[in-house]
Parts: sequence; structure tokens; C-alpha cells
Amino acid sequence: MGTTRAEKLAHLGLVTVRDALMHFPRDYRDFSGAHAVADLREGEHASIVGDVTDVGSRTLLSGRTMLTVVIASAGGRARATWFNMPFMAKRFAAGMKVVLAGQPKLKGSTWEFAHPDVRWLSGGEQAHASDWLAVYPLAEGVQQSHVRLAVQAALDHAAGICPEALPDEMLADKSLLPIEQAFREIHCPSSREMIDEARRRFVYQELFMLQLALRMHRGQQQRAKSAAPLSVDARLDARIRARFPFEFTPAQKRVCAEIAADMAQTEPMNRLLQGDVGSGKTAIAVYAMLAAVGTRVRPDASDRYQAAIMAPTELLARQHASTLERLLAGTGVEVQLLVGGQPAKQREKILARIGAGEAGIVIGTQALVCGTAMFKNLALVVIDEQHRFGVLQRAVLQQGQADPHTLVMTATPIPRTIAHAVYGDLDVSVLDEQPPGRQPVATYRVGPDDLDRWWDFFRKKLVAGRRGYVVVPAVEESKRDLTSIASAYESLTNGPLEAFRLGLIHGRLKPKAKAAVMEDFRAGRLDVLVATSVIEVGIDVPEATIMTILDAESFGLAQLHQLRGRVARGRVQGICGAVTSSQSDPHPRVDAFVATTDGFQLAEKDLLLRGPGDLVGTRQSGMPPLYLADLLRDGSVVAEARRDALDLFQRDPDLADPRLDRLQKLILDRWGDTLGLGKIG
Ligand code: ADP
Ligand code: MG
Repeated sequence: MGTTRAEKLAHLGLVTVRDALMHFPRDYRDFSGAHAVADLREGEHASIVGDVTDVGSRTLLSGRTMLTVVIASAGGRARATWFNMPFMAKRFAAGMKVVLAGQPKLKGSTWEFAHPDVRWLSGGEQAHASDWLAVYPLAEGVQQSHVRLAVQAALDHAAGICPEALPDEMLADKSLLPIEQAFREIHCPSSREMIDEARRRFVYQELFMLQLALRMHRGQQQRAKSAAPLSVDARLDARIRARFPFEFTPAQKRVCAEIAADMAQTEPMNRLLQGDVGSGKTAIAVYAMLAAVGTRVRPDASDRYQAAIMAPTELLARQHASTLERLLAGTGVEVQLLVGGQPAKQREKILARIGAGEAGIVIGTQALVCGTAMFKNLALVVIDEQHRFGVLQRAVLQQGQADPHTLVMTATPIPRTIAHAVYGDLDVSVLDEQPPGRQPVATYRVGPDDLDRWWDFFRKKLVAGRRGYVVVPAVEESKRDLTSIASAYESLTNGPLEAFRLGLIHGRLKPKAKAAVMEDFRAGRLDVLVATSVIEVGIDVPEATIMTILDAESFGLAQLHQLRGRVARGRVQGICGAVTSSQSDPHPRVDAFVATTDGFQLAEKDLLLRGPGDLVGTRQSGMPPLYLADLLRDGSVVAEARRDALDLFQRDPDLADPRLDRLQKLILDRWGDTLGLGKIG
């Protein structure tokens, strides 16, 4: 005997009755319509059950093969045909019981189904238990009929295993199906409409539970933790703003006010700042950090609070350090940079300054700051360019240390509904405005036939005084990539960009070498920086205003937009050419990229293209996957669930109502570990 059916089902994660119930169909097949040969109508969807009496294959004059299967049904015979699908022949044998579904046509005196849906009936399976047949996700060696039988058996125990968790009033209020009926309808629907109703019930419950979980998490955080209140009075506000060589945009002012209001509380701030590339998030971070550094720990002491900013790359950390040194020259605020490759002695010194509370602002990569630094008076943590940041990571970050306020900044905007679903316990600020004088980057798709003209244009702009980037793809920065980067560099220096001063930068370069190349480019000693996507994040050289992206098809949409952001920082309109290997074949990502420079629009498009399986904050955040809810498609349900959860918390902050006991237990089972719920108090 091979593996038993139970073992195979276990591969699918179907061990308990509950697992089987929660194994939701991925689709349905339509077996509705007439069921008797006498009732068939030309072109109207129908399904017929019968026994296979004849299977025949032949090759037509045209060279195509045609498979014909004849079935004998109670009211007469019907025929199914397939063209060029020889493998289908193996699946039929005389005597099998099958159901055919499709739109029949009358051929002579026999009804014929061309390429119908087929359902093979085994054992005691009912032909028409339901017109809508669930199609389940499968694993190797498991057949639809195995899963269907397991689910059928489980349905008989649904009431005992998965009792109703939502209070009756709520079901009535929101016209949701009761749980037992919802299980029945989702697995054995009685109609198309009921599939939608059942789905709505589960999606709502799932999102409602998630919102409640996030609220509970937040409540516990707030109860258990207290942060240093940092109040920014008018004087401090004016002093901070005076450090900047520009006036804040109205959006920046608004966001600064939102942050200042949060930080004035003894409850830790938990805020996500979304702002398109180039919208000036760094200034916001600096403002918040100076608010911390400008506040005394105690009125009678000289100690001041500390702030830390974490960047995803060392290059970006170094850039922040030099920005801050420039902005803070002469203020006496001590800025320390904590990055890899610093000699042990130097690192020790820096850590000592941090531990003694002398370093006011600490800049570093996340691994280093979280892993090594012990602060004396840390009051604020800023996390820059966080594209992948979810519930889990936050929970980890907030352990240890005192209880700093947290500001997370991202240039990869998440549609609001998704932000709410995934970051339901975060407040969200949006920088929806670019600094004055910015123009959208003129973006072109450059096909093979345009390439010569493009390089002509690129050279002319360099001669006219612009600096530029050429971006080459390197996904893994592996050895092979390095050769291809090196050869791309070669062919540029010996080809279209022969006459210019080129520098090369990529992820495998030693940090020091990277910083040196960057500095040469910044200072104008290089005309062109040939780079991999290491420049993708955050790099700010306002004089660089033209970019060529080679092999643009190989980049993600968010990445393309980030890259383009590098040439959108000056007063001169940026220009970007996306080089593609085909002249005009449609390419969804590149075409969307060329069509708009609005980061929010692109982010939604990106999600649509990548599909719900790849959502920011679900898989990436380490959250257990959602069973049914699709955060894009179910956006309005997310909003509804969030409203309802907020309402409920307002009425009953401790969820003390006994009618919520079951729901609360479900939430703890589902989210307790991820969110650390129920551990405190
Ligand atoms: P991002 O939001 O992508 O991190 P940055 O903070 O790097 O953007 O800012 C982009 C550029 O815009 C920088 O050169 C910065 O000095 C400049 N900048 C930011 N705010 C303003 C402003 N209010 N007025 C003019 N320039 C600004
Ligand atoms: Mg930035």
C-alpha cells in the first residue's frame, strides 16, 4: 500500500474536521441548468449525468485530432467532443459515470457538448448535490474527489466544531449568514448568489477579527508602555525650521504637526508616513529627531533625549549622516554614524557615546542599531524607506529599550484600505505634495530602433551640463551579475559614453569604495554613475537629472518608480529612458511606468499586476495568510470591518460582553502568537 488517503490529505494541511471546513474552494464549476436530455436547449448551459458507452479518437483531414465520448443518460444519449487534446482520451473508459456541463448544440439528432466541463463520479458521489461544484486547491497525489468527500464529511460536524462566533444581533444587523449555513453554502452552494453571500460572511469575519486583533495589540502596547512626552513649543518649532535652507511645504507642515501632537503624549507614537519619492520625508525625520534632541530629560538636568534613524542600506545611512552634519553644523548636537566595516575601536567609542547619552542622533543600518546599540535616553526611532514592514517586525522592535516613539517612512505607498488592514494599529500620515518647482520626470520607453537616437540625446544633455545615471539590472548581485555589470560598464565606456567620466557602483563594492564613488559623483568629478539598483533607495544628488534604465523589463514597478525618483530632485525637469528589448510589444509594468509619475497610482497598479498573493504586509510581514479576504478586491469590507471594530472598542474597550467570548478566543488562537496578544496582563 502506498500512502493512505488521510496522509495525502495531511499534505494539504487537512488533518482535522476544522481544517477541512476551512479549506475554501478556489473556484466553482457551473453544473446548473437542465439536467435531462429532453430539456436541453441549443446554447443554454446544462449538465447531464450518464455512463460512458463509447470513446473514440480520429485524425481529421486538417490534421487535428478529435476525441468523441458518448454517454448514455436516463433520457437519451449525448456526445462530448474535444479537439487536439489527446491526453483527455486516457481519462475515459466505458462504464465510467460522469457529468458533462456546457452549452450543447444539436448535431443531427444527438446533443453535442464541445469541450465541456467533466466531473468523474466515484463511489457514492451524488451527481447533482449542488449545481455549483467547488474546485479546491490540491496537493500532489490528492484528487478533487478526495477533498470533496473529506469536506462533505466535515460539514456534518460543522456546528459542533466551528460554533457561531458572531453575536446574533451582529448577524442580523449586517445580514450575514449564520456560520453553519455559510460553511454549507461555500462548499455546496445552492446558487451563484449564495456563494457570494457565504464568501462575504467569511471575508467580513476574517477582516473584523484582524481589526480587533490589531486594536487589542495597540491597547496592550499603550497600557504597558509609556513614552517620553516631547512637546514642541513655538520656540523649538521655529528653531528647528530655521535650520533648513527651504520653507516647509504645506504638506510637510501638516505632517510635522501630526507628529508633534503624537509625541507630546506619554503613549508611544506609532505612525506610518507615506510620501512619494522626493516629497521630502528626510526633513520630517530631522524635524522629529530635533524635537527629541531639543527636549531635556528632566528640567533640572542637562541630559537631553536621543533619537535614532535606521536606513535599509549603508549608502543611505551615510547620506543621512552628511545631510545631518550639514544641517546641524554649529549646533553642538552630536551625530553618530553606526555602519558595518568600522574598526572595532571606533565602534566601541561610538557605542559608548550612545550609551552615555552624549550622541544625540544616531544613524545606522537597522541590523546594527537594533543589534548593538544601548541608548541612555532613546525617545524616538525613525525607520526610513521601509517597504517591507509589518506587524511582526514592529512587535520585535518595541521590545527591549524604554518605549520610544516610532515613525516609519515609506515611499512605496500602500493603498489606504490595505494600509488599514495590515497596519490597522498604526496612524497614517501622507505627504501628498512635492516641494515647489518640481516637474514630473519625462519618461520614455526606448525600443531597439530608438536606442541610437536616445544615446545622442543623453550625450547632448551631458554636454549641456547635466549629470546622469545608467542603471543596469542585477537581481542577486551574484558573480554572473558582476560580470554582466562589468561588461555593461565596458560597453558604455567604449561605446555611447566614451567621451565622459564614468563611475561604477554596485552592491558588492566595499562600503568605503562605494562611498568614494558616490562622493565623486556628488561633487561633479564624474558625469555618469553606472549603477545597479543600490541607488534605488533614497540617494539624493539634485544635480543628477537624466537616467537610462537598461533592460527595464527586468525591474519591478515600484523599483522603476524609485529609480526614476533619483532624477526628480532638482529644479530642472528630470528625464528617464526605459530601454526595452522589444520595440512595441505591450509590457504591463514598463507601460504603466511610462504612463504615469503618480506613485500612489503605480502602487495600486503594482498590486493588481502582482496579485493578492504577494501583498505588502501579508506574506512579507510574516502575518499568517488571510484565508479568503483579498485586500484589494475587498477594500470596502476592510473599511467596514475597521469602522465596526472601532465602534465596538468604543462601546466595550475590554470586550467584556460575554457574547464576544467565542470571538475573542478565535482571535487569540489566530493572532495571539503573531501579535503577542494575551501575554501581557
Ligand atoms: P524623500 O521623500 O524621497 O526621502 P528627500 O527627503 O530626499 O525625499 O527630499 C528630496 C529633495 O527635496 C532633497 O534634496 C531635499 O533637500 C529637498 N526638499 C525637501 N523638502 C523641501 C522643501 N520644502 N522645499 C524645497 N526642497 C525640499
Ligand atoms: Mg528618503
